[in-house]
Amino acid sequence: MIDTHCHLNLYPDPSGLAARCDRENITAICVTNSPAAFEATKTYISGSRSVRIALGLHPLETARNRSQWRRFADLVSETPYIGEVGLDFSRAGIRTKPEQLEAFEFVLRSLQGHPHFMTVHSRRAESATLDLVDEHSQSPVVFHWYSGGIHVLKRAIASGHYFSINPAMVKSTNGRRIVSLIPRDRVLTETDGPFVKLEGRTAIPEDVRHVEMELGFLWRLTVKEVEEIVWQNFRNLLRLCGVDSGSFVES
Ligand code: MN
Repeated sequence: MIDTHCHLNLYPDPSGLAARCDRENITAICVTNSPAAFEATKTYISGSRSVRIALGLHPLETARNRSQWRRFADLVSETPYIGEVGLDFSRAGIRTKPEQLEAFEFVLRSLQGHPHFMTVHSRRAESATLDLVDEHSQSPVVFHWYSGGIHVLKRAIASGHYFSINPAMVKSTNGRRIVSLIPRDRVLTETDGPFVKLEGRTAIPEDVRHVEMELGFLWRLTVKEVEEIVWQNFRNLLRLCGVDSGSFVES
């Protein structure tokens, strides 16, 4: 199983959860919301076989903090995994739209010349996010929890991008409609834990099983077949990004 977008550092016991991912053979990309969080997280889960820590600059948390921008640029050579980055023009973020646009462009420029896998937040800002990515990024990115319109979705598909699907998406009518329009070879799985709840509790990486089951239902495949497709998609994307899948354990 693979969870390409999970905030392991925001759970009560990150290293315990990382050990659980190792034990259960779950590949997880631990996104962080700031360079400071990236550096702190490295100190307690860097030894994991299955978890990779991504460097982030979250649009709602750090877009305005320019000292964090500089730190981001200094750290891009330390990991090929980038996230959470992007734009958020929902009510929570619309006031900082100009700073966010500047910050995300700075992020994309900082990454030039550094092969990377990037997981992107685009809530209510799907079109602007896609435009900036297509202008500055040499490789496809992952739209995490895509919830925008169908027109932009089709543009993002045509541009070669990937989409990570979480348990909340497959539970909603709109989410299922979006999933049904994404080609199978562009689908990845995520939890976005601990922000996603499931059956009254906080989702953890192994809850990508719920997504695999829904995809199996939609595609008329077994969970094992879905898992193979998602794993292949992840490998393909890493190759397109020029990132070595290296020591990741085969599922
Ligand atoms: Mn997230």
